[in-house]
Amino acid sequence: MDQLFTEAIPVIAAIEEAGYEAYFVGGSVRDSLTGRLSNDVDIATSATPDEVKAIFPKTVDVGIAHGTILVLHESGNYEVTTFRTESGYSDFRRPDEVNFVRSLREDLQRRDFTMNAIAMDRKGKLIDPFGGKEAIQKKEIVTVGNPDERFTEDGLRMMRAIRFVSQLSFKLNLDTYASLKKHVHLMEHISVERILVEFEKLLLGVERKKSMELVVDSCLYDYLPGFKSYKSQLERVGTYSIEELKNIEELWGFLLVLLDIENIESFLRNWKMPMKNIRFIQSVVRLVKQDPSFLQDKFLLFKEGEKAAVSAASVRAVLENTNVQNAINAVKETYKDLIIKSMSELALTGHDLLAWTSDRKPGPWVKEAMDGALQVVLTGKVANDKVAIKEWLNTCNLM
Ligand code: ATP
Ligand code: MG
Repeated sequence: MDQLFTEAIPVIAAIEEAGYEAYFVGGSVRDSLTGRLSNDVDIATSATPDEVKAIFPKTVDVGIAHGTILVLHESGNYEVTTFRTESGYSDFRRPDEVNFVRSLREDLQRRDFTMNAIAMDRKGKLIDPFGGKEAIQKKEIVTVGNPDERFTEDGLRMMRAIRFVSQLSFKLNLDTYASLKKHVHLMEHISVERILVEFEKLLLGVERKKSMELVVDSCLYDYLPGFKSYKSQLERVGTYSIEELKNIEELWGFLLVLLDIENIESFLRNWKMPMKNIRFIQSVVRLVKQDPSFLQDKFLLFKEGEKAAVSAASVRAVLENTNVQNAINAVKETYKDLIIKSMSELALTGHDLLAWTSDRKPGPWVKEAMDGALQVVLTGKVANDKVAIKEWLNTCNLM
């Protein structure tokens, strides 16, 4: 058993000693059977949330309505979730009712795919009523029970299916995929926040090309914010070496350039992406589109920073089908040679400017003068030296 599980055994043991059942469930059990490492274990129990809280001195109510309590134990934090059933999905996305139950089997039955519906006790014995282990051996993603019903209950499961293709290199069971194609329109009921989580996992998975093909083939892309009119561009994704892209910002940058999205901010806002990420992706795209290359423009390289520049170089290399590592190396070399790398290294401050011009009030001219000085210092026209900069500012009438 992985260390991840052995560390959590005392938590399961404590629940059992109090007279309840508890098992490892979900992604961690699946991952250990496929030989992947997961970062956390989930525990399911017959104890109700209140009963769980009574067992452990330190707990946090993280999702008590759904039965999840965070148990803080010496070795780490563990999500402990009460066995539950769900019923009445009248809005195609969440259950009208969650009921806590005492039966493990009922809990496993409400889970999405057979590979995700395996429990493991603290001795490592599997409880696998739906043939999850066999599906894992066959590398197959198959719903627990009737796929039509399972996708109708919660449309996000369709997207999860395709993201698992990408992450696990598994294939979709034929009936599961046929049903997915039939029900894909139910994605319209799913919140953008949930779609974003799954889509980013899909993009980062090893089989990202294959799963993007499925996104197109199943018409799932129709329900990804802003993607509807870009079928032909999306079909071309697989012709690029996108496996070379290392992080999610690069993948977004690649897609936005490929789709030729003009207003990136509004496009990504529709995905409810945090502003900080949007800004960074905007920087990457700006650099990718820079012509001639941003490597010729030290001011831009300085402004956008090394991280965005490395990402932009990778995206551009992928789009142009050139060597990504060479492109990254070129950025790093150029960046290393920048005379200064942060504003604080410039031998000029706003204070200097105001002190030298006692007759002028602070205003936009200060920024203009600073930027002007930055330009000439970065390009080596003027030394990074207060006296030299002052002289230059005077000759240019910038102060
Ligand atoms: P990951 O490794 O990415 O965390 P995971 O399988 O653990 O994958 P989670 O979203 O963490 O995915 O969910 C944990 C478990 O909860 C799943 O393995 C599955 O059993 C169940 N589950 C999650 N989402 C759904 C859903 N939409 N419908 C049914 N069961 C779900
Ligand atoms: Mg998980």
